[in-house]
Amino acid sequence: MKQQLAIIILTTLLTYCGMPSSASQFATPTVNIQSAASNDDAALSDTPLTITLLDIGQGDATLVTTPNGYTILIDGGPPGSGKHVTLPYMMDHNITALNHVMASHYDSDHIGGISEILAGRDGIADTSDDIRVTGYCWDHGNSTIKSTPSFLAYAQATTTCQRTALPGDNIYFDDDVSIEVVAVNGRSRFGILAETDSDDENAASMVLLIRYGEFRYVTTGDLPGGGGNPPYDTVDEESAVAPLIGHVDILHLGHHGSGTSSNLNFLKALSPDAVVISVGDNNSYLHPNPGTLARLHDLKIPIYQTNRGHNVGTQGSHIANGNIVIETDGNSFEIRQNPKSH
Ligand SMILES: [Zn+2]
Repeated sequence: MKQQLAIIILTTLLTYCGMPSSASQFATPTVNIQSAASNDDAALSDTPLTITLLDIGQGDATLVTTPNGYTILIDGGPPGSGKHVTLPYMMDHNITALNHVMASHYDSDHIGGISEILAGRDGIADTSDDIRVTGYCWDHGNSTIKSTPSFLAYAQATTTCQRTALPGDNIYFDDDVSIEVVAVNGRSRFGILAETDSDDENAASMVLLIRYGEFRYVTTGDLPGGGGNPPYDTVDEESAVAPLIGHVDILHLGHHGSGTSSNLNFLKALSPDAVVISVGDNNSYLHPNPGTLARLHDLKIPIYQTNRGHNVGTQGSHIANGNIVIETDGNSFEIRQNPKSH
């Protein structure tokens, strides 16, 4: 954004199943990380664009609602989370249909909950309470070798709405809102990002750029950035895609803060004002990686996490212990945590 942004962390009293939370890291009532300074910041709409990182544990599920009421689900979390987290959240917010579903890639922590969500409250597909998708279910389409239970359930549930995303695809919503597929299947519209194996699911991840007015938000699925060591070393797609993205206001950090993503080139090129991380506690992947967090700290980028995860050095990280909600009017944005609803 051209103007400086106001990032205001609004403290909400955390509750967990009716019990006061012991979390104290949100005790500061209001924190102005940067001051707003502009007098031509007229809001584009009274209703904000809202991006909610749902606390689905280890994985990703993000719900986007536009000022005119369009709803987009980007990833659907791991199996079980669709029924127990995302669907109840949608019901609480009177969301009974989705305009689009976008699956960053086919790993179960991203698509495992989608069939549960689309089946609606009774959990049975093709009944009257199904969550209708009025547009498309976008994914990378490269499904020839996938036979995981999560993928099979996802593929079944999205048979009638599936659409293969291509680099450069743009979905336009309201006048000032769009979602661009910057890269998918290891390619941007300018060519390949890096030589990848055809079965490298993370490397096939969609890179999505959400725009609203001056606001820019990017999410990269589990796109690798060249980190890791054999046998878990990765190709570097981030460095190739970074110049196509440029500066963003918020970076939804790749691969739950894994050390294989968020390389220094990428972080410097995007220079986000804040990063958000969807991560589960006690995850076996040791996300977020301390080295990744250290890179962010060195660059003085504020970090917001749904959960602590393996964050043993939490200095500077804001831990929501629940959902993270971003609201923007196209000129400024706020990041909040809200309590789990049970
Ligand atoms: Zn993942």
